[in-house]
Amino acid sequence: MKPTSKLLVALLLVAFTAMPALAQKTIRWKLAMTWPSTLTPLASPPIKLAKMVEEMSGGKFLIKVEGKEKHKAPLGILDMVRGGQYQMGHSASYYWKGKDISLVFFTTVPFGMNAEEQYAWFYYDDGMKLMEKAYDKFKVLSFPGGNTGVQMGGWFRKEIKSLDDLKGLKMRIPGLAGEVFAKLGVNVTNIPAGELYTSLDRGTIDALEWVGPGMDIKMGFHKIAPYYYTGWHEPASEMQYLINKRAYAKLPPEYQEMLKVAMKATAADMFSENFADSANAWAKMKTDYPNIKVKTFPKPVLKAMKKATDDLLNGYAAKSPEFKEILDSQRAFMKKARAWTIISEYNYIKTCEELKN
Ligand code: CA
Repeated sequence: MKPTSKLLVALLLVAFTAMPALAQKTIRWKLAMTWPSTLTPLASPPIKLAKMVEEMSGGKFLIKVEGKEKHKAPLGILDMVRGGQYQMGHSASYYWKGKDISLVFFTTVPFGMNAEEQYAWFYYDDGMKLMEKAYDKFKVLSFPGGNTGVQMGGWFRKEIKSLDDLKGLKMRIPGLAGEVFAKLGVNVTNIPAGELYTSLDRGTIDALEWVGPGMDIKMGFHKIAPYYYTGWHEPASEMQYLINKRAYAKLPPEYQEMLKVAMKATAADMFSENFADSANAWAKMKTDYPNIKVKTFPKPVLKAMKKATDDLLNGYAAKSPEFKEILDSQRAFMKKARAWTIISEYNYIKTCEELKN
């Protein structure tokens, strides 16, 4: 065969191989987020995922991302994806604890795993399997969707020196951590994000927790509450992709694979974006507001928080076999993972810090 004929045959082969993809009609999906479209880094994963999937599919798989400013139902994402109004969602699993308390584990639990440990549990232990099982009753699939890493314990107007200082304290702190604080006498309230600054400024609340420096700096809490407590309650908050099962089943396998790859890539990307945001914001906060005092809760307070957390978790486990199965899995994996974290990351950082002296 002449070189030109060879080239023709090769071109024809390429054309035939590409034909099924070219013949594929354009698929249009919608994704609803709990967050406003501008709230990075939480809104970043779905926005980047839509772009990746569009490019990987040669413009044949299009996902329209809508923030809460559009659909006005930030806490209705699971229902909307289940009902099929949206094929996909981006939210956080612990928002559905009112529907099923077991779902908190797929975000984070107080004194639980850090992000590295938790991702290892998701992808290389039983995490994904248990999450699939837990979401099966809603006819949706759930995938990790980005992690905040360790969240800070929050901004306090006054220093917490003992357990007595928690009694009657008015604080915004959601989730299981809110239940823990309520057990310790804190008056736990839930206030919409837009009213938090004013509530703290006017003394309607004495303290609040949000995320970490990267997201906190935009809220301005550091200007009005000088005590910044270190974390215990959300050590690895994982965001969540939700997919309607019927819609997913109808996708060609190559598009299913594109979604899976893009979800995993954007989840990891948010972890890095949030880390960088926090490193930059913390450097700026410390310079602009040198009076910020970073504190760790006193040991008796932390011990009481830990005990209240264990009592709560064990209490739920006694009532729900599903909750118990996930709790047991996380505890068993964390035991091994933490032992490794301590001899690796923890010791490395400790060694570097000690060399400074
Ligand atoms: Ca938080």
